[in-house]
Amino acid sequence: MNKAHDLMRGLAEADPRLHDGIVRELSRQRQGIELIPSENFVSKAVLQAMGSVLTNKYSEGYPRRRYYGGNEVIDELEQLAIDRAKQLFGADHANVQPHAGSQANMEAYFALLELGDPILGMDLAAGGHLTHGSPVNFSGRFYHFSSYGVDPKTHLLDMDAVRKRALADKPKLLLSGFSAYPRKLDFKAFGDIAAEAGAYHMSDIAHIAGLVATKAHQSPVPYADVVTTTTHKTLRGPRGAIILCREEHRKAIDKAVFPGMQGGPLEHVIAAKAAAFGEALKPDFAQYQRRILANAQALATSLLENGISLVTGGTDNHLMVIDLTPLGIGGKEAEKALDSAGIYTNKNMIPFDTRSPFDPSGIRIGTPAITTRGFSTVDCAEVGAMIARVLKRPQDASVIAKVKGQVGALCASRPLYEGLGILG
Ligand SMILES: *Cc1c(COP(=O)(O)O)cnc(C)c1O
Repeated sequence: MNKAHDLMRGLAEADPRLHDGIVRELSRQRQGIELIPSENFVSKAVLQAMGSVLTNKYSEGYPRRRYYGGNEVIDELEQLAIDRAKQLFGADHANVQPHAGSQANMEAYFALLELGDPILGMDLAAGGHLTHGSPVNFSGRFYHFSSYGVDPKTHLLDMDAVRKRALADKPKLLLSGFSAYPRKLDFKAFGDIAAEAGAYHMSDIAHIAGLVATKAHQSPVPYADVVTTTTHKTLRGPRGAIILCREEHRKAIDKAVFPGMQGGPLEHVIAAKAAAFGEALKPDFAQYQRRILANAQALATSLLENGISLVTGGTDNHLMVIDLTPLGIGGKEAEKALDSAGIYTNKNMIPFDTRSPFDPSGIRIGTPAITTRGFSTVDCAEVGAMIARVLKRPQDASVIAKVKGQVGALCASRPLYEGLGILG
């Protein structure tokens, strides 16, 4: 019996309700098909680093420049995370302290802009993120956002339109990156437009960081002043974020993170980031990212063959957005029906959506998590057929029960966290 197991056995005795909840959540993850494209299953090493005594330490500041004593070991571990992040993305500088993607974006804005400055980002309905100017988010309240959208016919980004918009709006910062756009981005083109418009170029690769790190997607690092990313999506690390930047912005970024926005860093999470970056530097990880893409192709093809519409007609990254309009149902009902069958997705706006964000016209799905648990392209084709069956009869309990049975069988054949040793 290993030490991690002892640790959780202790929890079972000390706090049975909490232990029971964690065990039930593990079994939910094992028995369902996780298609939310921003989720993943981390390795045991990442879990172990996160569940370690590093959480006890206060280490405000940066390696060798701390406001607390006793940071010799912490310095070493944070430096390891920094070095690995720089190597992974080929960046001049990495700040590994941001608590989450939203904080990283706030910190990057703080570093480069004054409050009220103009930012040009991607329209939320077209695939942009909450922190890219939503009026209910700090971004929309602190900065003056304008947005570029997608082509009304193809729903693809039109870089000529982005350029025209940038030259007309004269933003101080041009933002590239998305949460729900199923195609590749041309970061070089964004960089050129920013230069022409006299703006900084900031890229938010929260979703595609794993693809970027393994060259399965063009990297923005050579073309952007600052790049932010979460660490928990395709990168498959702990919940958190990092900021990469050019040497000229290093001081401003570090100051904006601490003391500008955050207090003590989460060193247990930073250690888990180091673990994930170590894994991402291995050749296996590049293969994993290519399998994500192959699985996304298989899933998209199967959905289309089963009569389901996809925004832009498909995908060339890890995610796709189902357009529910032809089925005559909303995203809320679709998400709920799929949930009851054990298929986890999230409702999402589609370009030019006429419905509300609480019940939009789309469902967003992706393959990072199921690829981690070993789903093949054949499995993904089956998943596509299952989704189509549910979406065509969302109110039919017998269809949902049948699909739930299929989901159970498929999940049993692709075990998750087998012999994890933490929860027995
Ligand atoms: C997920 C995401 C974020 C925010 O990450 P959190 O960790 O949830 O705060 C920021 N930007 C983009 C593009 C994202 O997809």
